[in-house]
Amino acid sequence: VKDEGRGTVRFFEAAMDEQLQARRRIEHELSGAIPRGELQLYYQPIVNGRTGEIETFEALIRWHHPERGCVPPADFIPLAEQTDQIGRIGAWVLDTACAAAAAWPHPWRVSVNVSPKQFRQPGFAAGVAAVLGRYGLPPGRLVLEITEGVFIQDATMAVEVLTALRTLGVRLALDDFGTGYSSLSYLQRFKFDKIKVDQSFVRRLGRHADTLTIVRAITHLGHNLGLQVTVEGVETQEQLAMLRELGCDQMQGYLFARPAPMTELSQAGSADRER
Ligand code: C2E
Ligand code: CA
Ligand code: CA
Ligand code: CA
Repeated sequence: VKDEGRGTVRFFEAAMDEQLQARRRIEHELSGAIPRGELQLYYQPIVNGRTGEIETFEALIRWHHPERGCVPPADFIPLAEQTDQIGRIGAWVLDTACAAAAAWPHPWRVSVNVSPKQFRQPGFAAGVAAVLGRYGLPPGRLVLEITEGVFIQDATMAVEVLTALRTLGVRLALDDFGTGYSSLSYLQRFKFDKIKVDQSFVRRLGRHADTLTIVRAITHLGHNLGLQVTVEGVETQEQLAMLRELGCDQMQGYLFARPAPMTELSQAGSADRER
């Protein structure tokens, strides 16, 4: 029995070792991803809830790994957060998205995800101002999507940074609304321009009677506070019909378009403008 136990321990140690090594390898590969040109931004349209017209494109990062192919952000953004690489990656995302938007043939907004750690870095707001200046992008065309994670360590500091960004004229969205522990309390802390209702709610629409009630309540709450309400993860006509009736301001989801490189999306965009 004793021997067996030792064998098990050794087995777990070996497995952990392997895991750690795999992690270190990805970490190392990720650190070279920017210079090797392996990172790319995909864009997904966010449409007006009434007219269906494109208002904004959300930038979503992809990593084209030479062996593993297209790696989704869920598989490397958390690692980048843990290893401090998020600062460089986040800066690359912001720069690339603003450069792209400044060159678009139509003044759509660009929406950029900001990780809490990136947001908390000293000089974040000044960095945003510098990027806007570099490309001549009007501040009102940039939306920053942040999550309630930015409030966790130091809420006072978070509100200061948000206020500085607001002063620049940048728009601010509270992403993944409804999934955290205290989404509601953060609405009191800072007046965002919009909330993005988490897609888990939309997924359960039509399957769970209560979900419609919850999304309706969130929409009313947002509107009563003077905020726009965006819903994401809209995949079916049935969901679209329900959300239209609730008066959601913007919608985003595979029903309209999947995230894709801008070259593929802009064809749809130009077709739209020709109509
Ligand atoms: P998110 O900000 O909540 O982004 C929405 C996610 O939902 C995206 O996944 C998008 O592709 C996906 N999505 C959109 N419409 C639908 C739909 O109709 N159905 C379903 N099932 N999914 C839909 P993605 O691109 O894999 O990104 C996942 C998360 O990774 C993002 O969630 C965001 O938290 C993070 N992320 C992505 N890009 C960046 C980035 O540049 N910086 C940072 N810090 N985080 C990023
Ligand atoms: Ca987002
Ligand atoms: Ca979200
Ligand atoms: Ca998310």
